[in-house]
Amino acid sequence: MRLILLGAPGAGKGTQAEMLTELLNIPIISTGNMFRKHVSEGTELGIKAKAYMDEGKLVPDELTIEIVKDRITKDDCKKGIIFDGFPRTIAQAQALDQLLLDLNMPLDKVLNVEVPDSDIVERMAGRMVCPKCGTPYHKKFKVEKAQGYCDYCQTKLVQRDDDKEETVIKRLNIYHQQTQPLIDYYKAKGILIEIDGLGSVVEISDRVKKALGVE
Ligand code: AMP
Repeated sequence: MRLILLGAPGAGKGTQAEMLTELLNIPIISTGNMFRKHVSEGTELGIKAKAYMDEGKLVPDELTIEIVKDRITKDDCKKGIIFDGFPRTIAQAQALDQLLLDLNMPLDKVLNVEVPDSDIVERMAGRMVCPKCGTPYHKKFKVEKAQGYCDYCQTKLVQRDDDKEETVIKRLNIYHQQTQPLIDYYKAKGILIEIDGLGSVVEISDRVKKALGVE
């Protein structure tokens, strides 16, 4: 199965992608995670991408399409793919169509995880992460035991630059301008499914599984 998870940043696509990768045993292509890996490794691409990411802007299409192109041709993608956070512009969607056409791997479904902006701001601006082991926390929904420190490795928690409130609002504006048009793009292809992204993780996972018929 080849799927795209669409939705605003912070809509919970990553969590659903994790659930689906286990259930369906197919890899996730998350351009956000790929960029973050390049940033932490200090590669040339990472240095270029970081400047955009820190400001909440999209990394230019050419760079983004290039890393997806590299990844998509790896053997494990033959089983299926879950795209998380890609495509985010019409140009990326068109490039993906062409790549998948060349590989004879058509898309099956696009899930649009819908969450109102106000909920997104509350979710994202409360996120904290352990910079050492990567464990995520939340000021309201997943509070650490010792305030400000990781439960597992006692490292001081940090807020990702792109989770800061003003950055979140900027990212939402960019989402509405550049990514939301993809909803109509995939609707026109007849493969879009709307998922209500409000509720508990289990509730949302159940909706996703039902929509895909993989319960
Ligand atoms: P994410 O974790 O998916 O929200 O991505 C974090 C950041 O990486 C975004 O705010 C963008 O700066 C960049 N990024 C991730 N995916 C893309 C994409 N498909 N196109 C452009 N920039 C992206």
